[in-house]
Amino acid sequence: MPPRIHQLPPLVVNQIAAGEVIERPASVVKELLENAVDAGATRIDVDVEQGGAELVRVVDNGCGIAPEDLHLAFASHATSKLRSADDLFNIATLGFRGEAIASIGGVAQVTLQSRPPELPCGASMTCNGGDFSPVRPWNGAPGTRIEVRHLFFNTPVRRKFLRAAGTEMGHVTEAVTRLALAHARLGDRPGLHLTLRHNSKLVYEVPATASLHDRIGAFYGPEMQGQLYEIALDLGSASLVGFIADPACERGHARMQYLFVNGRWIRDRSLGHAVQEAYRGLLMTGRYAVTFLFLRIPPDHVDVNVHPTKAEVRFRNAQALHHLVFTAVRQRLRAQNLIPRLQAPPSTVQPSAEIGARSTRPLPEPPAAPWPPREERDVPPWAAPEPPAAPSSLLERAFEAPPPALPPPPPLRAMAHVEAVKAIQLYDSYLVVETDAGMLVIDQHALHERILFEQLQRRVRSGTLETQRLLIPEPVELSSEQAARTLEHREALAELGLGVEDFGGGTLLLTRYPTLLGKRSPQAILRAVVDHLMAQDRLPTREVLFNDLLSLMACHSAVRANERLSPEEMASLIAQRDLADDAHHCPHGRPTALLFSRHDLEKQFRRV
Ligand code: ADP
Ligand code: MG
Repeated sequence: MPPRIHQLPPLVVNQIAAGEVIERPASVVKELLENAVDAGATRIDVDVEQGGAELVRVVDNGCGIAPEDLHLAFASHATSKLRSADDLFNIATLGFRGEAIASIGGVAQVTLQSRPPELPCGASMTCNGGDFSPVRPWNGAPGTRIEVRHLFFNTPVRRKFLRAAGTEMGHVTEAVTRLALAHARLGDRPGLHLTLRHNSKLVYEVPATASLHDRIGAFYGPEMQGQLYEIALDLGSASLVGFIADPACERGHARMQYLFVNGRWIRDRSLGHAVQEAYRGLLMTGRYAVTFLFLRIPPDHVDVNVHPTKAEVRFRNAQALHHLVFTAVRQRLRAQNLIPRLQAPPSTVQPSAEIGARSTRPLPEPPAAPWPPREERDVPPWAAPEPPAAPSSLLERAFEAPPPALPPPPPLRAMAHVEAVKAIQLYDSYLVVETDAGMLVIDQHALHERILFEQLQRRVRSGTLETQRLLIPEPVELSSEQAARTLEHREALAELGLGVEDFGGGTLLLTRYPTLLGKRSPQAILRAVVDHLMAQDRLPTREVLFNDLLSLMACHSAVRANERLSPEEMASLIAQRDLADDAHHCPHGRPTALLFSRHDLEKQFRRV
C-alpha cells in the first residue's frame, strides 16, 4: 500500500512556516516591529534578554487589536491587511501574509496584550508552543505589548542553531537599525521614536525628531555622518532619496548598502550592482560602497510577495531602476570633488588643499539601459515626463541644479610643457613635480597603471590593439580546471590581445600578447588572468571581465614602486598624465597623485 495522505495539524503547519519566517531572535524582532509600524505606532520599545533567546518584548502605542479578534492574531493566514489577491499589488503595509504571530506562537511562549485606544479595556492571551489560554480582560496602556519567551523551546534542534548572545544581539540591532532608518523625521513629519534595551541596558534611543542624517550618525558614528552626500531625485511618481558615503567609508562587505523600496528594507542583486558600478574606479577590488538609499515607486511596479520574509522583491522595470540608481549615484559622485585631501597639520591651515583637478572628461561608462525603457509596455508612469520633454534628458534635468557649486579645478597647465617640468624621484617610487598649482607628488606605479589601462581600453574598443606573436609559443602549465576555465574565455582573451591554445593535459600555449605590455613576462600576466578567472563564482559580464582583465594587465605591466626611472621615463610618464581621462585614480581606485597647493605651502610657512 502506498503511504496515506493526510492534512497536517495547524501546529505542524505553523512550525513549518516558522522554519521559513523565524530563523533567529532577530526575525521575531523584525516581525513584531513591522506589526507595530503597520499599527501606526509612533513609539516602539524593544527589550531583549540574552540576545533574544530568553525574551523579546515589543511595546507599541499603535491602534491595538480588538479584544474579540485577539485569538485570530495567532491563527495562520489571518491578517487585517489584505482581503483579496488583487490587494497584493497595492500593499501599503509591511506585513500581509498573516503568518508571523502564528509562526512565533508555534515555537515560543508568547503573551499578547492589546488595547485599542478608544476602548476602556483591552484583552490578553498566551500561546505556549501552540497551546492557547483563554482571552482575559487587560487594562494596560493603549497599544500592543507582546512578549516572546524561550524561542524554539519546543524545537530543541533549532534552539541549538542559535549563536552566542552577542552574535544574536548583533542581528537584533541590525533589524532595529533598518526600521529606524526607514522611519526618520521628514521635514515637520516626526519619525518613529525607538528604544532598544539588552539585558535591561539601553542600547539605542532614537527620538522622533531624529532625521535620517541624525540616525545614520547615531548608528554609525560621527565620522561616517561627516562623509555623506545627499541624493534627492524626484521624478514625480518615483523618487530616489538618501545618502551615499564617500568612497573612503568603503567596507569589505556589501551589508552597508542599505536599500529601501517603499519603506521596506530589501536586498537586490541588480540594484546592488548598480551602486557598485557607480563607484567603479573609486574603490579597490573587493571593497564595497556604503549607501542609504530610499526608492519610492508605484506599488503596482513591485511584487513583494516573492520571499517569505519579504527581503527580496521583484520589479517590473528592473533595468530602468538599475539605470536610475546607477545614474543618480554616479552623477552625485561626479558632482563631488572626490579627490583625497592632504592632511595639513591642524591649527595652521584648513585641510583645503584639493589634490589635482577633477577630470572634465567622463569616466568610461558601462552600457546602461535606455531611459525610459524603449518598449511602450515597459514605460513606467513615472518615466513619462510632464511637461513633455526629451525623455533622455529626464535624469539630466533632475540634476540640473547640482548640489553646492564646486570650486574651480586647480589648473594643471604646467603639465602641458614637459620640458618645463622639474621632476625629482623620491624613494624610487614617487615623482615630485612643480606645477603652477603647487607641488604634485605622483605615485609612479598608480599613474602608469592608469595610463596603460586607458590605452589598452581605447585600443581594444577601437580594434587597434597591437599584438606580438611569440615565435615559439610559451607553454603555461595549469591545473586542468584552470586550463578549462581559461579556454572558456578564449575569445574574450583574444580580443584583449592574449592568444591561448590548448596543448592538452592542463597546459596552455601562449601564442601572442599585447605589445603595450612591454617588458614584463607575458606568462606571469597570463597566470594572473587565470587566477582572476578562477576567483569568479559566476560568469562576469563581458564589460566587467574586460575592465578587470585590462586593469590586471595594466597593473602587471606598469613600472613598480622601488624602480629607478630614467629622466626620459619620468618625463614621458608626466606628459602622459595629461592625456589620461581619469588621471586621479589607478584602476583599483587608489589616488595617483597628491597636490600640495602653492597657497597652502605659503600659508604653512606663514607667508600669507
Ligand atoms: P500580518 O502582519 O502579515 O498581517 P501577523 O501574523 O504579523 O500577520 O499579524 C496578524 C494580525 O495581528 C495583523 O494583521 C494585525 O491585525 C494584528 N496585529 C499584530 N501585531 C499587532 C500590533 N502590534 N498592533 C496591532 N495589530 C497587530
Ligand atoms: Mg506581521
